[in-house]
Amino acid sequence: MKLLLVAEYKSKKFLESNYELIAFADKLKADYVMFGVGDETDLPKCEGKIYLADSEKAGEYNPSLHKKLIAEVMEKEKADFIVLPHTSYGWDLAPRLSAELAFPQVTEVVDVDDDNFILPACNGKLWRKVSTGGKGIITIQGGAFNPENDYEGTPEVINLEVPSVESKIQFEGYEKAEAVGVDLTKAEIIVSAGRGVGKKENVENVRKLAEALGGELGASRPVVDSEWVEHSHQVGTTGQTVAPKLYVACGISGAIQHLAGMKKSDFILAVNTDKDAPIAEVADVLVVADVNQFAPALAEKISSK
Ligand SMILES: Cc1cc2nc3c(=O)[nH]c(=O)nc-3n(C[C@H](O)[C@H](O)[C@H](O)COP(=O)(O)OP(=O)(O)OC[C@H]3O[C@@H](n4cnc5c(N)ncnc54)[C@H](O)[C@@H]3O)c2cc1C
Repeated sequence: MKLLLVAEYKSKKFLESNYELIAFADKLKADYVMFGVGDETDLPKCEGKIYLADSEKAGEYNPSLHKKLIAEVMEKEKADFIVLPHTSYGWDLAPRLSAELAFPQVTEVVDVDDDNFILPACNGKLWRKVSTGGKGIITIQGGAFNPENDYEGTPEVINLEVPSVESKIQFEGYEKAEAVGVDLTKAEIIVSAGRGVGKKENVENVRKLAEALGGELGASRPVVDSEWVEHSHQVGTTGQTVAPKLYVACGISGAIQHLAGMKKSDFILAVNTDKDAPIAEVADVLVVADVNQFAPALAEKISSK
């Protein structure tokens, strides 16, 4: 199997997340070549080929042009799959490529199982297995295929001629979102509330434990969607990516989108009534208990010292 990995280039640099595309290829034990718009002085470290379009000419984002260049690389390489990150770059390019090449498209892939791609359904409560019959356009969810080791090597660069292409869309730059709420990325201790707390009032048990430990309150997405806690506290792919010294997951199952945001924490303590909850796979310590009993008891114990 051969993959064409589409690397993302933003604000004049290749993103670290491009290594997740390589990790995906490694998981499939597939050969790969890369496509990237960028600069030869700052390439992802890897073996193999990278088809490079000069960023001055190709622009950081120009959908019609990038689509044309990728289709050109496909002519040469005849890859079975084109793999893009599941980001606004990938979301925008994938359907364009799918229409251009008449390839089926599968988005938000979080795992692979034989010839099937696995993706979430019903807000991550169910999983779908999809097979595309051996060719397709894939977008992969951030954090789902983390590289286990640092990559080495310098790719062989094949410079692409950049033609001038009429485009209806003009890229005008990025606008930085206004910083609001809490910045969990700098917190050394985070105590997060999940749906297992049961109801809005019970979030206070978790908040008090966070206070007792001198940390910040985090939350899983259902807790935010239910408006029990503000979005700025959400940890995960659609929330913040954190790496505290201590992460306490209270009543959180450990769905891949949550894990993607917190699994780089130094020490993970999980409190869950279910000893088989997936969070147990990443937790250093799992306390099998009702969070609404455990959190206040621990907070009281810490405060009384
Ligand atoms: C595109 C997309 C993006 C997403 N982004 C995010 C994201 O950024 N962050 C995120 O968190 N999720 C995200 N999700 C949702 C994610 O898939 C899960 O649905 C979510 O993480 C589950 O949250 P949870 O663990 O709090 O709830 P649940 O999965 O419902 O788990 C609750 C857990 O609490 C335990 N429990 C129940 N009662 C108690 C009790 N009394 N005491 C202790 N434990 C108890 C249960 O055993 C269970 O393990 C995203 C989903 C999609 C599709």
